[in-house]
Amino acid sequence: MAKVAHPAPTLEWDTPLYQQALTQLEHALELADVPDLTSTRLRHPERCVIFSLPIEMDDGSYRSFPAYRVQHSSVLGPTKGGIRYDEAVDLGECAALAMWMTWKCALLRLPYGGAKGGVRCNVRELSMNEVTRITRRFTAELAPFIGPQLDIPAPDMATNEQTMAWMMDTYSMQKGYAVPEIVTGKPISIGGSVFRHEATGAGVVMVIERACSRLGWDLATQRCAVQGFGNVGGIAATELHDKGARVVAVSDISGGVYSPAGLDIPTLHAYVAQHGSLEGYTKDVERITNEELLELECDILVLAAREDQVTGENAGKLRCKLVAEGANGPTSNEGDRILAERGIPVLPDILTNAGGVTVSYFEWVQDLGRLFWDRDEIRRRLADKMSDAFDRVWNVSQERGISLRDAALVAAIREVSGALEARGVYP
Ligand code: NAD
Repeated sequence: MAKVAHPAPTLEWDTPLYQQALTQLEHALELADVPDLTSTRLRHPERCVIFSLPIEMDDGSYRSFPAYRVQHSSVLGPTKGGIRYDEAVDLGECAALAMWMTWKCALLRLPYGGAKGGVRCNVRELSMNEVTRITRRFTAELAPFIGPQLDIPAPDMATNEQTMAWMMDTYSMQKGYAVPEIVTGKPISIGGSVFRHEATGAGVVMVIERACSRLGWDLATQRCAVQGFGNVGGIAATELHDKGARVVAVSDISGGVYSPAGLDIPTLHAYVAQHGSLEGYTKDVERITNEELLELECDILVLAAREDQVTGENAGKLRCKLVAEGANGPTSNEGDRILAERGIPVLPDILTNAGGVTVSYFEWVQDLGRLFWDRDEIRRRLADKMSDAFDRVWNVSQERGISLRDAALVAAIREVSGALEARGVYP
């Protein structure tokens, strides 16, 4: 029988989001001047695992949920990255986010590589018991691939301290003793760190503050719009508000609220705590859509919802002077190009939202040492780490005349490359 020629399949993780991460990498590799070994190794994740989780639903029926974990690079240490529960989770998304985690950890000089994982599900349609069962089954399936010296999960979209507590408990039950250092972002009662909850949003504002000072702006006089009012966006809005900046708009998946005079952020938080989202909030505000929020006239636009929000379609319509990426991958490559042409600087995700993984690192160190620091100590250590990374990125950008994103990637890739060269390729 004649042989049928099959074209080589594309690599399983090769989706548009992965292409976005890869295009950024290729561009940065041209600027970074690193050996072939580095580019060959870093273009692909080291390990991808796909699971299907059989879950008994509350009505007695069974459903199967796809789940993923991708580890991009372990050259600098154990891999580290969040777990997200979202309908859009797929292998390519996890692989792209894992690659960004590698750059983020390297840029902040943390002894970690990047990972990411998640379950494809819609938590708004699930009961608490169903989410618990998904989390515990996922952790049991993940057990051979994670570990305090191997891969350390953390919260991400639609997962939180409670999710991490279930993961820590499930892993610990299998080991037979408490292993708090298996995850970060846990409740403080089981080895979590003070200030971890606030760390990403607070770090976003530390970077914005440092950028304002380099640009000669006073943060307290800036008008800010924040897309996303969850962990990152909600805390960033509070920190901006506390520093005297005027937060004129915030939004979540239900839409946004706008007040040119500035929003009352604590009242909005209280409303969300009671109602679950900003939906229905109308007191002293104008309701706007997420598209409208992005195009509002303001000074600083904080993107803290999800990936792919500023694209070739709308980048030309933004009316801010600075973009801060609190979310991962919120600006598409085409969007980035248009913003660069328009002279709107972008504080890149791998720098701007690195506060979370940095305090996660502090949490892991504290768990391993069974010794805990106070809030002031952690805030001070975080500010030192964020400022050091910001200054390195800013200086590379100025010296080489390249964007802040390229500068951040170049700095990060060189860190990983140095370790790769020193270690070489086994065997
Ligand atoms: P979250 O689930 O707590 O909050 C997400 C927020 O965005 C919610 O308010 C949600 O309603 C809103 N949202 C979702 N889709 C939206 C849309 N299409 N338009 C407008 N709003 C929308 O998640 P989070 O932890 O705040 O994460 C947000 C982003 O930050 C993600 O990209 C995540 O990967 C990134 N990030 C999070 C952390 C962390 O420590 N939590 C660290 C680094 C990066």
